[in-house]
Amino acid sequence: MTDFLIRNATAILTGLAGAAARAPGPDVRVRAGRIAAIGALTPEPGERQLDATGCVIYPAWVNTHHHLFQSLLKGDPVGLNATLTPWLTATPMRLRPLMNENDFRLAARIGLLELALSGCGTVADHNYHYYPHMPYDTSAILFDEAEKLGLRFVLCRGGGTLSRVADTSNLPPASRPETLDGFMTDIERLAQLYHDPAPDAMRKLVSAPTTPPHSMRPQELRDCAAQARRLGLRLHSHLSETVHYQDTVDSQHQMKPVQFCETIDWLGPDVWFAHLVKLDDDEIALLGKTRTGIAHCPQSNGRLGSGIAPVRQLDAAGAQISIGVDGAASNEAADMISETHAAWLMQRARAGYEAVPYFRGGQGEAEAASTTVEDVVRWGTAGGARLMGLDAVGTVEVGQAADLSIYGIDRDPRYFGLHDLAIGPVASGGTADLRWMFVGGKEVVRDGRLPDLDVIELGRQSRDAVRALLARL
Ligand SMILES: [Zn+2]
Repeated sequence: MTDFLIRNATAILTGLAGAAARAPGPDVRVRAGRIAAIGALTPEPGERQLDATGCVIYPAWVNTHHHLFQSLLKGDPVGLNATLTPWLTATPMRLRPLMNENDFRLAARIGLLELALSGCGTVADHNYHYYPHMPYDTSAILFDEAEKLGLRFVLCRGGGTLSRVADTSNLPPASRPETLDGFMTDIERLAQLYHDPAPDAMRKLVSAPTTPPHSMRPQELRDCAAQARRLGLRLHSHLSETVHYQDTVDSQHQMKPVQFCETIDWLGPDVWFAHLVKLDDDEIALLGKTRTGIAHCPQSNGRLGSGIAPVRQLDAAGAQISIGVDGAASNEAADMISETHAAWLMQRARAGYEAVPYFRGGQGEAEAASTTVEDVVRWGTAGGARLMGLDAVGTVEVGQAADLSIYGIDRDPRYFGLHDLAIGPVASGGTADLRWMFVGGKEVVRDGRLPDLDVIELGRQSRDAVRALLARL
């Protein structure tokens, strides 16, 4: 049932820029899973109607960076107060090899559910733990779990040929690197099985070696980029998350990380990087000129003490901006409402932090020009959809896929007294009152719940799984 009329919304944010960021509505008609009309609409005979009085309509969020397996690794005390590099060793690298197939599926389900309940309709997962002769197919599990919930899913197939350990012969099998041939053969296999190039695809594949300076040799990264472009796949990875990336690339190649990516054909409108926290001005200009994308992950960057990415500068330079929650082992609330709320605040904090007083030659408070809620909504919806090739997703416009999140702002006192109700879900943060979420016109969430999914039981399973995981140490 993908034909209906949403009536009397208080406000509509479209995911577009400038004056088009808001549509007057108050009604939205959906036909065959697409937005057929927006305006003051008269119900047609027999048309199903949804009463959105007291609600605001957003495009369903698009999360462009995640590691779903980490949904069972939240708040690990061993890594809780570490920065990125020691945290990687303390938490994901220590615990991921101990997870079995059931743990992996459960973690994926928890993470996808958390995102869905925040109003996220499209999830890109950077699944990077692959090794030779893996006994189960994590790629298939991820597509399967996303399909069960009715979400669009983009698999960023990670992995690499290098290990951070010098001698790999003594490593347990689950910690060993792949061969380049193994990686590329699996990309071919997954592309044939899952990749749909359509602008409203439910499934896409992205080639995503885990981290350029650490995961593969330069020529291997060039080969991966060439293969991806031959197959019509996009490219994704981590870059410049901390100063450690700058030190690594400087010592290996005597250049900056973004310049290094230029030498391996890893810049362009078909490439996006998670983080990009530590950038010099010339790197920002190069990312902008090449229209390379960012998955901005403010909560993880805060949690790991990495910094605050220069997103406003990247946006102004022409780079493509999107929002990612990153793995839940470095972000204990991996949902799009928390993340966009943090993005809104932290971009303002960064601008203020960089402001210089007049007497020192600066522009005073004027330098702290504000990131708007409309900017953050655009980054978290249309921005993410565009950089993944989902051009028919991410905006509330006639002809687009009906991926809609409808939030109540009339039941929770956090919104009472707001002068502009449209900004409530992002500006007020907290747990949003998600009245409905539709993906391609299909109802995924109603009244903050997914039908047929027992959240209490899932919580019990998660506690059992964490206990069993720690017992395997
Ligand atoms: Zn990541």
